[in-house]
Order: sequence, then C-alpha cells, then structure tokens
Amino acid sequence: MMAGERWGLDRRGLVLGSAGLGALSLGGCATLAEPARTRGGVYTPQIAPVRASMNRVFDITVCLRPFRAAGPRLEAETIGDTAVIHNYGHGGSGWSLSWGSGTLAVRMAMAQSPKTVAVIGCGAIGLTAALLAQEAGAKVTIYARDLLPDTRSARATGSWTPDSRIALTKAAGPAFAERWEEMARISHKRFRRYLGLPGTPVEWSDRYTLFDRPPGSEPEPEDPLGFASYGDRIRDLNGRSEALAPGATPFPTPYVRRNASMQFNVADYAHTLMADFLAAGGRFERREFHSPGEFSSLPEKVVINCPGYAARALCKDESITPVRGQITWLIPQPEVNYGVYYNGVGVLSRRDGIVVQAVWGGDMFGYANAQEVVDRAEAEKSVAIVAGLYRRMGV
Ligand SMILES: Cc1cc2nc3c(=O)[nH]c(=O)nc-3n(C[C@H](O)[C@H](O)[C@H](O)COP(=O)(O)OP(=O)(O)OC[C@H]3O[C@@H](n4cnc5c(N)ncnc54)[C@H](O)[C@@H]3O)c2cc1C
Repeated sequence: MMAGERWGLDRRGLVLGSAGLGALSLGGCATLAEPARTRGGVYTPQIAPVRASMNRVFDITVCLRPFRAAGPRLEAETIGDTAVIHNYGHGGSGWSLSWGSGTLAVRMAMAQSPKTVAVIGCGAIGLTAALLAQEAGAKVTIYARDLLPDTRSARATGSWTPDSRIALTKAAGPAFAERWEEMARISHKRFRRYLGLPGTPVEWSDRYTLFDRPPGSEPEPEDPLGFASYGDRIRDLNGRSEALAPGATPFPTPYVRRNASMQFNVADYAHTLMADFLAAGGRFERREFHSPGEFSSLPEKVVINCPGYAARALCKDESITPVRGQITWLIPQPEVNYGVYYNGVGVLSRRDGIVVQAVWGGDMFGYANAQEVVDRAEAEKSVAIVAGLYRRMGV
C-alpha cells in the first residue's frame, strides 16, 4: 500500500480485481451530503465534505515512529536482581498491536508470579501492558517521564494499521510473522471491548481510496528496504475492499474503492485507558531513567520496559530507526464519518480532530528522519490537495 499508515486500507485492494470498472467516466455524481439512498441499484452513502483550509487548522504535530527492522523488541533480560521485559519498537503499529504485544510481555513478566510489577512508560504500549498486568493479578506502578496525552503516542493517526512499518520482511523472518499474527489477533479482539462506549474511544469507519487511473496501473512507490506486509494473514479480520461503480459516491475520481476499518479516537481512548488503570488501583510516578541499570533500584523486581522511540537513548538501542510523521489537524466535523486517501494524502475524521497526513513516497516517507519539528510547507501542501479534491466535487 502506498499510504504510509495504510489508512486501514486493503493492500490488495489496490489491484483492481474482478469488479471490472474498466475505463468508465463518472456519469452523474451523487450529491454531497444527501441522505444515503440507492441510485440505479447502487447504494449511495452520504459523504459530507471536509472543510479543508489552513484557516481550520488548529494544530500541526510531529512524531517519530520507533521502527526496528526485526520487529519490536519483546524479550526478557536480567539486570541485577530485576527481571526486565523489553516491549518497544512498534513502528507505525503501536496502537494497533498494543494489546497483543502487551499480552506477550505480561506472559513473560508473570512467569515469575510477582505480586507487584513496574512498567516504564505511559504511551500506548506501557499503558496497555500495565492494564494487562493488573488483569493478571499484579499491583502495578507506571514510572514515566511523561504520561498520555503528553507522549508521542498521542500524535498518531489512530487507525487500525497493525503492519505499518512494523518490520522488514527479510530481517524479521517467518517466526516474527507468526508472532505478529498472534499479536494482531489478540489486539483486534480486545478492541471490541471499547466499541459502543460513551465517548466512542474506538469505532469502525468507512475508508475510500480514490484513483484517477485504474488501481495498480501506476508504479508503486519505491521500497528498497522491503517493508513487511502481513495483512493477508488476517484477511478474515480486515474484511475486503470493494470497487464502487462510477457515480456510487460523490467522489470525482473514476475509480473508488471502499473498505471499513477500526479507528482510535485517541483523546478519548487514552483517557479511558488511564481511568481504567487508576480504577484498578494503578499508580503513576513521574520519573526519568538514564540507563536500564536504574531499574534495579525500583522496589518492583519485575519491570516491563516500554519507552518507545526513547529506547534509542535509554537502552542505547541503535536498532531503532526514526520514521518521521506529521499530522495537520483540522477542526472536528462530526458529520464527516469516514476516511479518504487521495493523491498521496490521507484524511481520517476523528471525534477529536480531522487528521490530514501526507504519505508521499509510501513507507519510505520520513524514514531515518529524526527532525521532530513542524514542516509548514508539508502541511499547506497536504491541505491544498484535500481542498482540491472537494473543489472537484463542487464544494
Ligand atoms: C504520525 C504517526 C502516525 C501514527 N499512526 C498510527 C496509527 O494510526 N496506528 C497505530 O497503531 N500506530 C500509529 N503510529 C505509531 C504509534 O504512535 C507508535 O508505535 C506508538 O505511539 C509507540 O508507543 P510507545 O508507548 O512505545 O511510545 P511513547 O508514546 O513514546 O511512550 C513512551 C513512554 O516512555 C516514557 N519514557 C521514555 N523514555 C523515558 C525515560 N528515560 N525515563 C522515563 N520514562 C521514559 C515516555 O515519557 C512515555 O511515557 C503512528 C506514529 C506516527 C509518528
């Protein structure tokens, strides 16, 4: 998939299947924001337009994905009298894989039957591992320099993207592919608990991928490193994308594919997780560590280490490569309930803002770039592309 976070899209969906769209032009578009109805026998969804303008930008955030060629580090190490379980390096998939990764980490941690467990880090990975350790019967303290929403995790797109920049196929090998599938399945199941809750921390949404030329007819972005793609292993969870007939949506491109995917409304989801942790008797302690050796000074003798990208400095782990990603945030529009990918830009409407993200160049976009600073030109260009899309629709 060319889109960086893959936008919860169907990688294989880019290759036009038997839908036989052919070289069709767009005869009579469905009208924007009209109620859903059928048109010539085709279901026409309501598509409210995104008001894409720099005037509606309320924030631009930048974050570094903690990428490891071999996949996340999930292993135990003994430091002094302390068992340390490392759980970091989840690339562009940290939210998506968090529950599965945490389950494997907690399994290792609880092998020692500890009564108390320390978790280092309070991003997506630390917080979910902490909740799982509580469920396994431990009393848990999270030690972290910053708590959500002040960690990098809060700057994510918030989409179910379990194999986004998670590993390189060759470096990770088949054993990791198996482990990845286990993590993805555990996570996917766990997200169901958060569907339908007040605040809508997790929900399903439709995603549209728009093409001016037949899907698959344009060259894929270069991928010299060979990023792993494991989506086929969980096709039963992801569902399939479908090619929509011309005119079946108000979008102006001749080729439109649609699939459905989960999204995480991070503001509410993170808040829900923090509240759940406290309600289960969890404790936060703000603390900064300078080396893993300091973990053995903690009263807990089992530690789950989840520092994310910061493991590069904290654990001197140079196997972590930064992959920069920037999000331009548009003021939320509750009437927009879908995601769309067009011309190298992904848009996802969340309850807490509309995410606009450039993904030119596919998975290599931002690779080995540790510049965690705003690039306003990138923001302006991506918003202009989205604005151009809706202008083509007469908005
Ligand atoms: C632009 C962008 C979009 C993304 N979109 C998605 C998406 O749609 N779906 C998805 O699944 N993933 C996505 N990701 C990836 C996801 O955000 C990361 O994989 C995830 O945030 C990693 O979480 P973490 O808990 O490991 O790290 P962090 O959120 O960085 O948390 C690390 C924690 O460790 C603490 N810490 C670090 N060092 C120390 C220290 N020395 N002492 C004490 N505490 C310390 C920090 O304070 C923090 O609490 C995206 C990433 C980016 C950049």
